[in-house]
Amino acid sequence: MSSMARLNKGRNYKAIKWITLSIMIFASFLFLPVASASDRYERERLRMVEKDIKARGISDERVLSVMAKVPRHLFVDRRYRSQAYADHPLPIDEGQTISQPYIVALMTELLRLKPTDRVLEIGTGSGYQAAVLAEMVMEVYTIEIRERLARKARRLLEKLGYKNIKVKHADGYFGWKEYAPFDAIIVTAAANHIPPPLVKQLKEGGRLVIPLGSTVFYQILTVVTKKDGKIIAKQIAPVAFVPMVGEITKRKD
Ligand code: SAH
Repeated sequence: MSSMARLNKGRNYKAIKWITLSIMIFASFLFLPVASASDRYERERLRMVEKDIKARGISDERVLSVMAKVPRHLFVDRRYRSQAYADHPLPIDEGQTISQPYIVALMTELLRLKPTDRVLEIGTGSGYQAAVLAEMVMEVYTIEIRERLARKARRLLEKLGYKNIKVKHADGYFGWKEYAPFDAIIVTAAANHIPPPLVKQLKEGGRLVIPLGSTVFYQILTVVTKKDGKIIAKQIAPVAFVPMVGEITKRKD
């Protein structure tokens, strides 16, 4: 090999090394915003659990760890993402809302869930509460009356890999007979009475959590327990939910 060829070989090697290094640096810059954004969301999520949930008295360790895990920012519209872990509800499509994180945690705790439970949710909305439930129990059934919301939530939950959630587009007033009875039922829209089909589809000893009262002003979060076929109601706290629509508006309590 001539000395000229040897020189070229050395230069080529240096050039390849330099190009590889530049590609690696460039690629790490590409991934940097993604990594730092997810770190930021995780930090915000942990702050939310400590300051807005634990500090207010939620003590169920399973609830706390699930609230620290589910990526709430993916359930809100892109433009509200920076507020995803703030201490208030947020708008979702069609004039509906995703509940305040504390209320999601409180309702989940009130359901006293066991890992083997089968749970029914009325009012899928964004799908966030369903995801929280799915992290805690075996099977989640959720009903949404607005078709577009039902479709969007189903798509997102599938994308996030939740295989134990079934989403149905229907009026939740009538429950989901096919999969009844349920160990727990959660209604996430304001109701002026407890839909009788839901009580029927609740297991003996089961719990039903529902915002009960005026659909225009505020409601009282109520836990209903079914014992010997009868129901026992316990009032927990005032809350403000979007109204349940459909059949409920045609009936009186
Ligand atoms: N749990 C949701 C928030 C619920 S907002 C979340 O985690 O994002 C209340 C939802 O209840 C709305 O999406 C509304 O369309 C739905 N809803 C109202 N009436 C209903 C009914 N009769 N059956 C099922 N869903 C209903």
